[in-house]
Amino acid sequence: GGGAVKGHVLIIPFPTSGHVIPLLDLTRLLAMRGLTVTVLATPQILPLLSAYPSSVNALVLQLLPPEAARDVALASVYPRAAIQALGSLHGPLREWIAAQPNPPSVIISDMFVGWAHRLAEEVGIRRVLFSPSGAMALSVVFTLWRDMPKIADSVSFPEIPNSPTYPWRQLSGLFQAHREGEPVSEFIREGFLANMESWGVVVNTFNELEGPYMDHLRKIMGHDRVWATGPLLPPEADSFSRGGSSSVLADDMVSWLDSRKDGSVVYVCFGSQVRLAEEQMTALALGMEKSGANFVWVVRADGPMKVLEGFEDRVAGRGFVIKGWAPQLPILNHRAMGAFLTHCGWNSILEGIKAGVPMLAWPMGADQFVNATLIVDQLKVARRVSEGAGTVPDSDKLAEAITELIGEDRPERSRATEIKGAAVEAIDEGGCSYKDLDEFVKCIHASPLDSDIKS
Ligand code: UDP
Repeated sequence: GGGAVKGHVLIIPFPTSGHVIPLLDLTRLLAMRGLTVTVLATPQILPLLSAYPSSVNALVLQLLPPEAARDVALASVYPRAAIQALGSLHGPLREWIAAQPNPPSVIISDMFVGWAHRLAEEVGIRRVLFSPSGAMALSVVFTLWRDMPKIADSVSFPEIPNSPTYPWRQLSGLFQAHREGEPVSEFIREGFLANMESWGVVVNTFNELEGPYMDHLRKIMGHDRVWATGPLLPPEADSFSRGGSSSVLADDMVSWLDSRKDGSVVYVCFGSQVRLAEEQMTALALGMEKSGANFVWVVRADGPMKVLEGFEDRVAGRGFVIKGWAPQLPILNHRAMGAFLTHCGWNSILEGIKAGVPMLAWPMGADQFVNATLIVDQLKVARRVSEGAGTVPDSDKLAEAITELIGEDRPERSRATEIKGAAVEAIDEGGCSYKDLDEFVKCIHASPLDSDIKS
């Protein structure tokens, strides 16, 4: 190869929080390692880029047809429509790339932006798949899209380590939609088949957590350019407003947590997408009330608030309700944290693991049932308390599980401490994820001709 070429990377996120947050954390790391980065920024993403280094440019394409723009804006409500709508950027992006004096040599795009593979091929550059899901979940998803088994009740994955089996209803709604012949889902399947052709894959995980699944992914991909760079995190200073501006003041939150005993608080949050029904919120509220534990409960600002009438008074002094967006990282990392009741979104799980907090699992959909298998059955840092998006949990059982988990000597707690150590080590200088990131950056910097580019 020739002299050092300063790498330029085009990043295409999928605009829902759980997908944007880790990819923007990766973006920052790439900029810090000397790459020039352009991020395709939809209106939801643009404000999140304000604190970024100057080598990160936002690309705002005004070229989405109005209908597609509307669907993309509704990504958090109708992700399937948004996946297809974002695809209308293929043509405009090709023109944009062709017009650049210093065009990108690599596209890194989310797993819901599989069409970027064809775009990259058309302009003769490499495409890297970014997976906000873990390696186990991605293995399941790849296997399903590839084989689409016509099985009635449950699906087994004998080739994947630990041979997981799930009933259809526990697998992402994307597969059900495809089985039911929903037209959009064919576009999604094509995107995933293209993902499996990509030049490289970056997974937000770390080797000690999912080593065997990373190896399996390498087998599926047919090459070794599959890197584990997680847990992806922002710098400490940016962690309070990560992914959105907090609905509580830092001082209020921190002083409330400061006044609690070590390990005494349960944090309850179901990510950015889940919308609980009133009966579910009632059962949760009752469960927390009966447990007698301290808790921080994040409720969606657009959720059924009636449940909170009177409740907040009854639990005053030991319950802190956040309506809207919570500063999840600082909360989880506070010494007062004792347990995390989670829907098992992959980011939440990684954040719980990195904070060393044992978890109570209530998987709802998407990749969450697979993630629950990993943290409950394999890693043993969590126990199940409920499952399914429509389930109303038993408040007595919930109270009991909370009380038990924040009790002194639960095995989940010591496991959580162990795995936390591995997570911290992975991203420290010289750790597995640190080295994988270095390796990845080196590959990007190298001229495409130097490396094993698939054509
Ligand atoms: N999050 C947050 N505050 C909230 C809700 C969510 O900071 O009030 C963050 C959370 O820390 C995580 C992401 O949003 O990084 C949610 O991703 P996850 O994969 O857990 O679930 P999803 O929202 O995709 O279902």
